[in-house]
Amino acid sequence: MTSRHEIGVEIAVIGGGLVGAAVAYGLIKKGLSVVLLDEGDTAIRASRGNFGLVCAAGKGDKLEDYAPWALQGVHVWAEFARNLIAETGIDLELEQNGGFVFCAGPLALKERIDMMERLKRKSGLDFDVMEPAEIARLMPGVSSNVAGAIFCEIDGAANPLKLLRALHAAISATEGALRREARAERIERTSGGYRITTPAGMVTSEKVVLAAGLGNLGLAKWLGIALPIKPMRGQILVTERYESILKAPSEHVRQTMDGTFLLGGSWEDVGYDTSTTFEVTRDIAAQAVSYFPFLEKVRLMRTWSALRILAPDNAPIYDEIAPGAFLVTCHSGVSLAAIHAGKVASWIADGALPDEAAAFALSRFEPGLKEREIAYG
Ligand SMILES: Cc1cc2nc3c(=O)[nH]c(=O)nc-3n(C[C@H](O)[C@H](O)[C@H](O)COP(=O)(O)OP(=O)(O)OC[C@H]3O[C@@H](n4cnc5c(N)ncnc54)[C@H](O)[C@@H]3O)c2cc1C
Repeated sequence: MTSRHEIGVEIAVIGGGLVGAAVAYGLIKKGLSVVLLDEGDTAIRASRGNFGLVCAAGKGDKLEDYAPWALQGVHVWAEFARNLIAETGIDLELEQNGGFVFCAGPLALKERIDMMERLKRKSGLDFDVMEPAEIARLMPGVSSNVAGAIFCEIDGAANPLKLLRALHAAISATEGALRREARAERIERTSGGYRITTPAGMVTSEKVVLAAGLGNLGLAKWLGIALPIKPMRGQILVTERYESILKAPSEHVRQTMDGTFLLGGSWEDVGYDTSTTFEVTRDIAAQAVSYFPFLEKVRLMRTWSALRILAPDNAPIYDEIAPGAFLVTCHSGVSLAAIHAGKVASWIADGALPDEAAAFALSRFEPGLKEREIAYG
């Protein structure tokens, strides 16, 4: 560190959401000097508004290499959680008792089974197909009108707010490593690496990691790159507390450890609009009640919306977009937190992306994207 207004580190990670914080945490564990720069609480943040699933089921539908990657990510979660809890004393509320995907009708069930079979050939992810009577053993109160569900034993959920808090706490144990109110306003290449301008001062680093969620769209332009990611709104409903009844989460309904039900899952292509709407709230509630009729009598407490960071194939992007400048972005920042802190941090520390990362490169969208200078008005 050079001065109060200018610091020098080996690696600057931009973006203190779940993705940047997981990568920064992993890099610090490897003994590197790291600063994590975050815009602060006014930012658009998926990390504070998500459903908290830790799951592999169904991932890779549009990019099959994502299926084994997501499975690895879920496999390493429990050990990652144990270490983070031991370091910070913050319980991440991880439960890996399996996860469900409900299918309302026979056609949806058949399509889902076909997809899961295809992905199993790629990743080996085991799953069961359950009828309502079997589902009810783990999920009492499930409607007998549900056609069936896919059940993956390895899946589960965690508390994403506690995960973010724990990562920030672990990073903050290294003095000066977490800088809030430090929006990266400009990134320049220098002879030794990068210079990043923030309102809190200048940061120079040998490497830089762009992990700022939708903020990456603006940051990548400094390096001449246009990213194919976009916001996708999701609304979530939370109910009052209820006796503990659901033993495993599903894509649309899960019960948290404190007893509330989270109902969710809208996918809305509405740009940066983060409002909640009556129509979507109504539809989410109706779908949840169709799966669990008893929810009709459970009071709704509040709703919120957040923006997913979505690539065209819903899969992560890992790439070195300029020498020593790494891009890390994904839609499933909870599920992939452990592997981001592990393997992805190791790749960045080593300074080279291995063959395993090739499937997640930007060039899968538009070959030559990296080589081309992109002009902006
Ligand atoms: C409704 C919904 C449900 C979801 N459910 C799940 C789920 O069940 N399981 C799962 O795994 N994932 C889920 N996700 C996805 C998950 O929330 C995201 O993948 C994850 O939060 C992305 O984290 P991020 O750090 O990339 O982005 P964000 O959380 O958006 O954080 C970006 C950070 O970058 C900072 N930033 C931006 N620009 C700059 C800049 N110029 N300089 C410095 N800092 C900057 C911001 O301050 C912010 O802190 C869900 C998302 C939504 C919206």
